[in-house]
Amino acid sequence: MKISQRAQIVPASPTLAVTAKAQELKAKGIDVVGFGAGEPDFDTPDYIKEAAIKALKEGKTKYTPAVGIIELRKAIADKLKRENNLTYSPEQVVVNIGGKHSVYEAMQTMLDPGDEVLLPAPYWVTYPETIKLAGAVVKVMPTDKKNSYKITPDQLKKAITKKTVMFVLNSPSNPGGFTYTPEELAALAKVLEGTQVCVMSDEIYEKLIYGTTRFVSFAALSEDAFKRTLTLNGFSKAFSMTGWRLGYTAGPLDAIKAMSRMQDHMTSNPVTFAQYAAIAALGPQANEAIEKMRIEFEKRARFMADRLNAIKGVECSEATGAFYCFPDVSAHYGRTMNGTRITGSMDFAQALLEQANVALVPGLPFGCDKNVRLSFACSMEQITKGLDRLEKWLTQ
Ligand code: PMP
Repeated sequence: MKISQRAQIVPASPTLAVTAKAQELKAKGIDVVGFGAGEPDFDTPDYIKEAAIKALKEGKTKYTPAVGIIELRKAIADKLKRENNLTYSPEQVVVNIGGKHSVYEAMQTMLDPGDEVLLPAPYWVTYPETIKLAGAVVKVMPTDKKNSYKITPDQLKKAITKKTVMFVLNSPSNPGGFTYTPEELAALAKVLEGTQVCVMSDEIYEKLIYGTTRFVSFAALSEDAFKRTLTLNGFSKAFSMTGWRLGYTAGPLDAIKAMSRMQDHMTSNPVTFAQYAAIAALGPQANEAIEKMRIEFEKRARFMADRLNAIKGVECSEATGAFYCFPDVSAHYGRTMNGTRITGSMDFAQALLEQANVALVPGLPFGCDKNVRLSFACSMEQITKGLDRLEKWLTQ
């Protein structure tokens, strides 16, 4: 069969590949510690499940408007007002089939062939692929460990050209585990004033922040930022609802209407009974349910960073958000481990998996070959066991 050029250039997701490889080894009876997970290790809270069951029993099993039911769009608009200080009408919200779909649809809606998109590295692996699938050009912005892998206003200013159409922002970051401060975001917003650049602000990890970290939505920074921003969020991470496939996008009415037209033909509505569960998720029990998970992640964030930093040749900042550590392990490149020469993050991850049965994700597909990503969305026992193995392997 003839396969389209578009499909031919899309690589498989390297993060999903690591999980699959680890599962394959586990199925063979090998005791693998997996740090690859991009999902919370908690179950979806019961009150959300119960709302879905109730919706099913009430026969909420048919099509809804493609953009989602108005009650959910209203609940999301209320949430954005209450928690993020963003005034969107329900018509300015479209419910997508997972945050990944929000990203894909946003790119399809906003980008034309030849448009340039500014993408700070490290970036979530899906961004460059969705940009390319829209025919646009990825302009990677390298960052510095010294600046916690964040871009500077000066860098942003210099990167903007006549062809720049979009700036992708993801804070808290996957894979970086860093979070821009409100002041840092305000400085970036200032740079964009007077330009034609729109912002895709992926805020899916907003609830998972640690220590003294504060979260602000990019669109809430100023009237100017509000007008140029698509705010993306979803239920997967905060509510541990990865399998429910619920994301959403809010933004200027013309953009959301255009996205909605795309959705009419791409997918139709998000799963009907899941939408009813999402309304419940955002209800009065939300804070308590999220806080339970957040506190646990916070403990692990500190523990994992301390353990990693205690290993010679591993440098890691403590995560301020999301559930990832992204240490620089490049001091070990050039070494030969049990006959395998480590030249970069791909060799590092493969050799570690084969020789010490620890699965982590190489930094190369995130745009940072010096680093690897370890998720702490797993139990303390697993973290301890995996880091013991990593330490032993690196200090051999
Ligand atoms: N954005 C970021 C930065 C993510 O890490 C993820 C999940 N890995 C998503 C969006 C999408 O999540 P989902 O499709 O499960 O809602």
